[in-house]
Amino acid sequence: MAAQVEGIKFLNRNLPSFAVEEARRIAREQFGLEGELELLVSERDQNFRITSPGGGDGYVLKLANVDEDPGVVDLQTAALRHIERHDPSLPVPRVIPSRDGEPSTMVRAREGTQHIARVLTYLPGMLLEEAENTPELRRNLGTLMGRADLALRGFFHPHARHPLLWDTMRCPELRVHTRHVGDAEARRNVESVLDHMDAVVLAQLAGCRNQIIHNDAHSNNVLVDPDRTDRGVGLLDFGDMLYGPLVVEVANAADSVAAHAEDSVRALAEVAAGFDRVLPLEELELDLLYDAYLARLAITATIIAWRKAVTPGQPAYLPEYEAPCWAAIDRMMSRGRRAVRSQLREVCRFPPHCPSPPAPSPPDDVGELLARRRRVLGRSLYLFYDPPLHVERGLGPWLYGADGRPYLDAYNNVPVVGHSHPQVVRALSRQAAALNTNTRYLYRSVLDYAERLGAVLPGELSACLFVNSGSEANDVAWQMAKLLTGRGGALVMEHAYHGITAATAELSPYDTTKPLAPHVRTLIAPDPYRGPYRHGDPDLAARYAADADRALAELAEQGHEVAAFMVDTSFCSNGIPEVPPGYLAAVCAKVKAAGGLVIADEVQAGFGRPGSHFWGHTAHGVVPDIVTLGKPVANGYPLGVVVTTLDALDEFGRATGLFSTFGGNPVACAAGLAVLDVIEEEGLLPRAKATGDHLLEGIRGLMSGHRIVGDVRGQGLLVGVELVRDRKTRAPAGAETKQLLNILRDNGVLIGREGPHGNVLKIRPSLAFGPEHADRLVAALERSLAALVIPTRTSAKPPT
Ligand code: PMP
Repeated sequence: MAAQVEGIKFLNRNLPSFAVEEARRIAREQFGLEGELELLVSERDQNFRITSPGGGDGYVLKLANVDEDPGVVDLQTAALRHIERHDPSLPVPRVIPSRDGEPSTMVRAREGTQHIARVLTYLPGMLLEEAENTPELRRNLGTLMGRADLALRGFFHPHARHPLLWDTMRCPELRVHTRHVGDAEARRNVESVLDHMDAVVLAQLAGCRNQIIHNDAHSNNVLVDPDRTDRGVGLLDFGDMLYGPLVVEVANAADSVAAHAEDSVRALAEVAAGFDRVLPLEELELDLLYDAYLARLAITATIIAWRKAVTPGQPAYLPEYEAPCWAAIDRMMSRGRRAVRSQLREVCRFPPHCPSPPAPSPPDDVGELLARRRRVLGRSLYLFYDPPLHVERGLGPWLYGADGRPYLDAYNNVPVVGHSHPQVVRALSRQAAALNTNTRYLYRSVLDYAERLGAVLPGELSACLFVNSGSEANDVAWQMAKLLTGRGGALVMEHAYHGITAATAELSPYDTTKPLAPHVRTLIAPDPYRGPYRHGDPDLAARYAADADRALAELAEQGHEVAAFMVDTSFCSNGIPEVPPGYLAAVCAKVKAAGGLVIADEVQAGFGRPGSHFWGHTAHGVVPDIVTLGKPVANGYPLGVVVTTLDALDEFGRATGLFSTFGGNPVACAAGLAVLDVIEEEGLLPRAKATGDHLLEGIRGLMSGHRIVGDVRGQGLLVGVELVRDRKTRAPAGAETKQLLNILRDNGVLIGREGPHGNVLKIRPSLAFGPEHADRLVAALERSLAALVIPTRTSAKPPT
């Protein structure tokens, strides 16, 4: 109802009609101002500019409409004073107090009516409406409003919710007036906008950031510099100010500049980007901008039509704006919410939108992305899945397709505490906003992080060298081992993968078509399912460990003494075998006895994956000389670490002076610290153990119904499921495994494959994975196994 009442006020305008002489007397007697008076154009009030020689730009005497609510005038005065305190250089009028020191006084007109009189400083400039409507102007307009809202952030006033016809949050009240829109299609359009606001958007806007906003920075209320018209030099008319959603400020400021622009969507995006520059928009706010802008256009169009209908014969209201406003409504609606949101996101650098729930007909842009990818990333970088998966968002254990479809991510171990964990994201962004530099300077986060790592590592392992990836960490660890031992021989597991640098590639014999480097020997994988010694043998650990004697002897034959044994403590690329207890400790003892060092590559196993332990090596009862960390360290922010004893690090440092520019930067360390916090606070180790046990049990339950499942093994949240064509011969079912991955993807679950034959399902989810996710995975695996058909060919891929 209030908007109706306000509407009536607005239809019967009751403009005050003081004579110039009376106004001059008010200025002199009430405000102590003398000078020339000039009547200015106004919608609601009677405004006189007062100038005097030597008096600068002068003042504006504002004689309010008889209906003006004194509370709303006070709201404006208080807001202007608040802005003056919080952003003194923001170009808004200053309040000039009366001779009594009040911001306004009451004056009586000849007719006996009472009017509020007040004086503001006059701001010179050219109306934005008259300036060339350029991208710079639109961005700067957005920035001006961002600054205004920043300045108004802590402001409140009891009249901030005054009823206003132009209040976007009350736009459904205008629904009764849409009947005045003559054109049927246009009417349907505004009605659908108002109805959608009512049904969906208003509740969402109410949940966004709300504060007192100017609400009406249209092109008649903003002044620009006549010499540089893209510069806003004045923000006027705070009469429509109210408490409302911040994003409505952007929509209303964009109002006419976007409507008059050739590309209204781009223009709207430019205003938003300008605003975002000083007052970053939240994702939901940006996504609601399309609706908020359309609502503003619908409000304007309805009011114009209504006023025309009920005041026949009177001059038209906003005559020059009527046609552009309708045209903008058409343009916006024909582009559609989805396309406009995408463009707004692109301009404001938000990642692409992932609708939820899934869009009914997802756009098929995979072909286009593939073509672009081939051009810029080359033709040989293979993609998971056929067709490849287009993802733009992840949260916790979920990844979301660009079409909004959720996929349970049981593959990616890098986001160890879950995709986009808010605590990690916050830590990253707060540190990035404060400082990012390198370890040549003193700063706390790198020290805090190194100390925290040392506290979760065994023995003397507490001295850190920071790099940026697992490969680099292994490369440095290998350099270190050679330097500390003065030797050059290496032992690694067969099919191991340790990195992409020249040195670590030589330590990565996963590609069996390439000859081994002479300084490298491999150990047989301790795989009691497929290897030479199998379950049932009472001496499995010792038998497999004895292979180290052979390898050490072979190394010596090649003229190399062992510098180090580098081992992925999860044995991931060996197909996640069930390593016999005591095996790794026995091998390490042999290596140490031969004078070599043990490098535990924790890139896969580290940070709680085994569930029972924080590290793979501790799960195997081994204390290494050097530990390398990668992948999960910072939940996806690049960070690699080499940890060793202080003496070892000092010796290496003295000899090499090795330093990495990005290694251990404050942002990486902040992320790393947040990962450790989350693992601890959310109890992710015991959870990984419980979830892993539950998962193993669930998958083992499928073995009786699916003969292709030959073996199920794992520890914590690293589970291998070996598929075989025949349980007796154990013939690897590589092609079936590959096919199964695609079927699982169709069933909404992402899993990888591993092992020399590519026939082991690699289940390696984040530790955010819980029993409910495990159940979902098992159900999907069961459905997918049932859908499997026998294909013809397989190929092994490098581990990732
Ligand atoms: N070590 C192991 C055990 C790995 O699995 C990997 C990556 N798959 C690496 C090292 C190399 O890490 P990055 O890709 O970060 O260089």
